[in-house]
Amino acid sequence: MRRTPPGPPRPALRKAAALLLAALALLGSACGKEGSPPVKGPAPGALPHYALATDFRLPDSPTWERAKRRGHFTVGVKEDQPYLGEKDPATGTYAGFDIEIARMMSASLGLDPATIRFRTIASANRETALQNGQIDYYVGTYTINDNRKKLVGFAGPYYLAGQGLLVRTDENDIHGPQDLAGRRVCSAAGSTPYQRIQKDYPKATLVAYDTYSVCVDNLLTYQVDAVTTDDAILIGYAAKVPEELKVVGKPFSREPYGIGVPRGDDALRFALDDALAAREEDGDWKAAYQATLGLSGVPAPEPPAIDRYPAS
Ligand code: GLU
Repeated sequence: MRRTPPGPPRPALRKAAALLLAALALLGSACGKEGSPPVKGPAPGALPHYALATDFRLPDSPTWERAKRRGHFTVGVKEDQPYLGEKDPATGTYAGFDIEIARMMSASLGLDPATIRFRTIASANRETALQNGQIDYYVGTYTINDNRKKLVGFAGPYYLAGQGLLVRTDENDIHGPQDLAGRRVCSAAGSTPYQRIQKDYPKATLVAYDTYSVCVDNLLTYQVDAVTTDDAILIGYAAKVPEELKVVGKPFSREPYGIGVPRGDDALRFALDDALAAREEDGDWKAAYQATLGLSGVPAPEPPAIDRYPAS
């Protein structure tokens, strides 16, 4: 058998190899392998310290009473969304803007944020997790809308995002959702961006996974042509491999992020609304933003007005 003499790799192969490396790097960052590309994150000392409310009581909230007896809140979050909710696989520590919101809320409700047990819950499982008491509240890029309000309650909003598109840097034909006809678009099952593409852009071929990080891996390996979700989430993925990925076009929806609570626990919902208002007022919200999402380069916006809707 003749062996092919070693020669310079063909450009297509080189490109494929580079993309594979990028994908592995991205995966590696989720698995804690050495050599992951560094994402600029806050130095531990840079995170704000949230004053703990003493003598706080909320007897009308069954969720709060249970957490108080137990000695900690159990909070649902994401673990693969840079700047927002990201778990360091080596230490198990969660970091990001959503995590800071979860912490400041715990402090306002009289439970030391250091005691929080974080649980990763995917987009499609949030309502069930709140309904069956798996978590006390949820902070993870969770859009407030009327359909979801039939199943859970929402404090907030504490941030306003908008749906966007992430593509490879070698993609020149996708500038907005109108360019998705006949293209493969990936999003998370159970998310509002998935539902919007399905309803408003039916000519796109939708692909769903549990998480956006799996969509991003599929984008890097040419399995899909675009990933769609909130701009705040996409910016974080692009920042990990800026030579390979870019966010294109303008946001094409309004995604107000709320804190999910069990439906009917209005005492907890109103207490969280009050706590958010107070943390926006005293500068903690802004400090938390600057130590997390602000590292993406987007300056702190004004927080959106809190929607304290009537008791259910
Ligand atoms: N904010 C959107 C949603 O709640 C997309 C992000 C996510 O899936 O968490 O569906």
